[in-house]
Amino acid sequence: MRRILLHIDCLVDGTGFMESPAALLMEGDSVVQVGSPQSIGPIDELQITQIHGTVMPSFVNAHTHLDITVETSLPQPMEFVPWVKEVVAPVRRNQTADEIKAAVQRGAQLSKEGGCFTVGDIAGSLDAVRAFQESELFGISFLELIGTGTRNANGLQLLDELPVGCGVQPHAPYSCSKQLYEASFSSGRPIATHLAETLDEIECLEQRTGSIVEFAKTIGVWDGEIGHDRIHPVDAICDVATRPFLAAHCHYIEDRHVERLHDCGVSVVYCPRASAFFGHKQHPWERLLEHGVNVALGTDSILCLDTSDRLTVLDDMRYLIQKGASTKTVLRMGTINGAIALGLDPSHYQLTKGKIAGLIQFSDPVHRGFDSISNSHELPTPVTL
Ligand SMILES: [Zn+2]
Repeated sequence: MRRILLHIDCLVDGTGFMESPAALLMEGDSVVQVGSPQSIGPIDELQITQIHGTVMPSFVNAHTHLDITVETSLPQPMEFVPWVKEVVAPVRRNQTADEIKAAVQRGAQLSKEGGCFTVGDIAGSLDAVRAFQESELFGISFLELIGTGTRNANGLQLLDELPVGCGVQPHAPYSCSKQLYEASFSSGRPIATHLAETLDEIECLEQRTGSIVEFAKTIGVWDGEIGHDRIHPVDAICDVATRPFLAAHCHYIEDRHVERLHDCGVSVVYCPRASAFFGHKQHPWERLLEHGVNVALGTDSILCLDTSDRLTVLDDMRYLIQKGASTKTVLRMGTINGAIALGLDPSHYQLTKGKIAGLIQFSDPVHRGFDSISNSHELPTPVTL
């Protein structure tokens, strides 16, 4: 296998590791040695390839919806239910298989352009699952299931027909029955779900009233007998969870839920810019991290972001840093924690010996190391091995 010796101005990763100047001996897509140029020294018959700038492992976007990566006018911040009705529904309506495939391909391209080579993709159809699996991205496609009323049987049937390597996403506690969640946990497949995303969701689960119920009634899909007890959505899903799962959002949890999520082995995916778009404030991500909950980063779909030319958690890291977060913490969330959330080997997202899921490079000569994330607007490029 091809060996390559890189000399690099600066190497960093999400463990807080930094070496400057640095050397990296690669064999194919595996790290053989990492350290200072002196510690590795010259290698017989290998020319040194010099990289000016900062190199780090590629990023992980643990929650997005690639199949709605369509060109649209920049949306203004709005509430969740009107956004579903006015922005997402027109895109999904009558979307052909070719259009779905094109949207996933565009999403994959915009992900790579932002340094995200690994994605947890929520697929609205089997066409979207196939398009993801044909892309060059690492990660998992979770087929989204809706399971209320007459659609419950359809959701259960889809579970039996899923392609190999595909995860499953019961959409949310208000749109999927308890039975469908139980079947999803029994399926043995990786599981993701939206959870505690809005106050409307809490009202819907606890009281069966509110704007989600009204919206579901207007489109003829409301089912008052979804099977969940009239309790907080975190409790409803943790009650049926038989193994760890990935929960997107978790904005609206009670103090006691921090321990509950930890005990259930839940990975929470926080989507900071999407959260701000919908007007949610004070996400408990720091409290969750302090209590040992794995918190990863996601972008959610491009239809609630102000960056139409890329789809990357790098922008979410920079957003959080502007709000005072530590660069090392957000880099961990956008690499190692994302891998853990998706059930991937986290060592592939740090600079230790062994396989690595791609390296990216920032060339800015002024902002080096962790500064290439915190004090620069530069987008990374892939390191070709
Ligand atoms: Zn989502």
